[in-house]
Amino acid sequence: MAKIGFIGLGNMGGPMVSNLLKAGHEVTVYDIVAELREKCANEGAVVGGSAAEVAKDAHVVISMLPASIHVESLYLGDGGLLDSLASGALVVDCSTISPASSRKVSEQAAALGITVLDAPVSGGVGGAVAGSLTFIVGGSDEGLERARPYLEIMGKNIFHAGAAGAGQVAKICNNMLLSVLMTGTAEALQLGVDNGLDPAVLSEIMRKSSGGNWALEVYNPFPGVMEGVPASRDYEGGFLVDLMIKDLGLAMEAALGQGAATPMGSLARNLYIAHRDNGYGRKDFSSIQKIFSDD
Ligand code: NAD
Repeated sequence: MAKIGFIGLGNMGGPMVSNLLKAGHEVTVYDIVAELREKCANEGAVVGGSAAEVAKDAHVVISMLPASIHVESLYLGDGGLLDSLASGALVVDCSTISPASSRKVSEQAAALGITVLDAPVSGGVGGAVAGSLTFIVGGSDEGLERARPYLEIMGKNIFHAGAAGAGQVAKICNNMLLSVLMTGTAEALQLGVDNGLDPAVLSEIMRKSSGGNWALEVYNPFPGVMEGVPASRDYEGGFLVDLMIKDLGLAMEAALGQGAATPMGSLARNLYIAHRDNGYGRKDFSSIQKIFSDD
């Protein structure tokens, strides 16, 4: 079995480590938060004293960190992880970060003979726990084939979007579309309810009509319409508004870099920022329903 180094043991990283351990791999972990390290140790992981120690002797290093700044500071610069990794090492960064940051890490790594993949995920905490994540990979074919056995333990779908950074671009496009679909669905549901319709009846009509979309299928934002979704538990759990705002910021950066027009994404981002400022930053992103329904 392979020796895996895993850095970043939060909402997503923690359950991903559990699945690698269950598959019989030896996993050495590190997070700056001690209690997250202990949680993994209780499940059978070896705890490294630092990120560099985790990387030592690992066949593959996987990271799952919040944002670009964390990834760049982990891998680059004096004392960065690229300094501790041997030539020929494989790194899979699953964080959602800017494509430019992913390319920067990949290019500096390539100069040292280290292969880096960007492999952001879709599927949320539920997908991480169930081992059914979708990985959206940027990087070389050869790197992806080396990473595939590990990705297959943590996920069900693996897409190769293109060269370094392409995984991030695809992930950002998907999340921008998701924010637009969720916001539009919430707006339409409230319009129907304000005009006397039952939200469950309206949801079913739109789901089977030309307005049908993923939110109506599996993630209805209106409380009480669908069981087991964040809307039915006061928008707890799921994908945080704060993280959606981060991803929409990445989309805006990518748009500015290319002079692309993203009016819908820009509007969705502004709505989510107003929603966060109303106190919903730590709630699931489907809580955008409240921006239409709150007095
Ligand atoms: P999280 O904040 O729960 O976990 C990130 C972890 O990284 C934290 O435990 C933090 O202590 C650790 N960390 C930060 N800097 C570190 C460093 N230098 N060394 C070691 N550990 C460090 O975040 P999350 O929800 O697990 O999300 C991780 C990434 O996955 C983000 O980029 C997010 O956008 C993406 N993502 C999240 C979801 C979701 O539903 N939560 C879904 C898809 C993608």
